[in-house]
Parts: sequence; structure tokens; C-alpha cells
Amino acid sequence: MIYDPSNIFARILRGEIPAHKIYEDADTLAFMDVMPQSNGHVLVIPKAPAVSLDDVDPQALAQLIRVVQKLAPKIRDAVGATGYRLAQFNGANAGQTVFHLHFHIIPMYAGVPLRPHTGKMGDQTEIKRHAETIRVAIGA
Ligand code: AMP
Repeated sequence: MIYDPSNIFARILRGEIPAHKIYEDADTLAFMDVMPQSNGHVLVIPKAPAVSLDDVDPQALAQLIRVVQKLAPKIRDAVGATGYRLAQFNGANAGQTVFHLHFHIIPMYAGVPLRPHTGKMGDQTEIKRHAETIRVAIGA
């Protein structure tokens, strides 16, 4: 699959549409998922274009997973979760809906089932509040 620069995450990277950003460095952006499967659901993306794991440059992937490792426990602790799940989909038949590589960091709470993967828009006020809490915790 050829990378389509009009995908929604490319548009977020170009600042064409808003996002609740929680972390940014030269190679990586992390922001809140608008349809969170749990409170504090974050997406981490490389700035360099890649559709999926298939075509990402290995160096860029290494950088990306380092950021995921750094952020995930901080997000978990910031939102009062007790675990986190990582998800990463490759191809439409695997559940990928946005064709710019991304890792989901999904905080897990005891006894709280996840909301569906392609669910409803979350409460924007609540998502904004979670973003603020996470930003404080990671010192962003
Ligand atoms: P995937 O299905 O793995 O490709 O995941 C795409 C994710 O992007 C889904 O969890 C969506 O809720 C999320 N999403 C779609 N549009 C936006 C957006 N504009 N801002 C933040 N998250 C988004």
C-alpha cells in the first residue's frame, strides 16, 4: 500500500486538524485517541511517513518503541490505571483504520472492560482533562 499523505494523522502532524497532544519530539508525536477504548487511551506515531510495520524504517521504529516504553507507564500511573495494553494493527483486515503507523497505549483498570475499538466519539471535555493530567505527569 502506498502512503497517502491526506490521512488524518498526517493532517494532525501538519497542524491542519487539532489533537490533544501529550508528547512531541523531533521524530515522534503522541496524542489522545478521540474514541478512547479506556480513559487515557493515547496514540504514538512516527513523524516520518509509514503505513504500517511493513514499511517503517527500522531506526524510526526503534525510536518509536522507545517513546512508547517511556510514555506507557507514566500514562498508566497518571490516570490511575493498574496496567496497560499495547495495540498495533497492520492492514484493514487486521483492524487498521488510519494508514499511518501508530501504537495504541490503552490503560487498563481492574474490572473495567474496554470499549469497542471503533466505537463512538469520546467525551471531549473528559479527553482534554486526561490529556492535561498526562502532560503534567510526563512533564510536557
Ligand atoms: P487503528 O484502527 O488501529 O488504525 O486506529 C486508529 C485510531 O485512531 C482509532 O482508535 C481512532 O479512534 C483514532 N482516531 C481517528 N481519528 C482520530 C483523530 N482525529 N484524533 C485522534 N484519534 C483519532
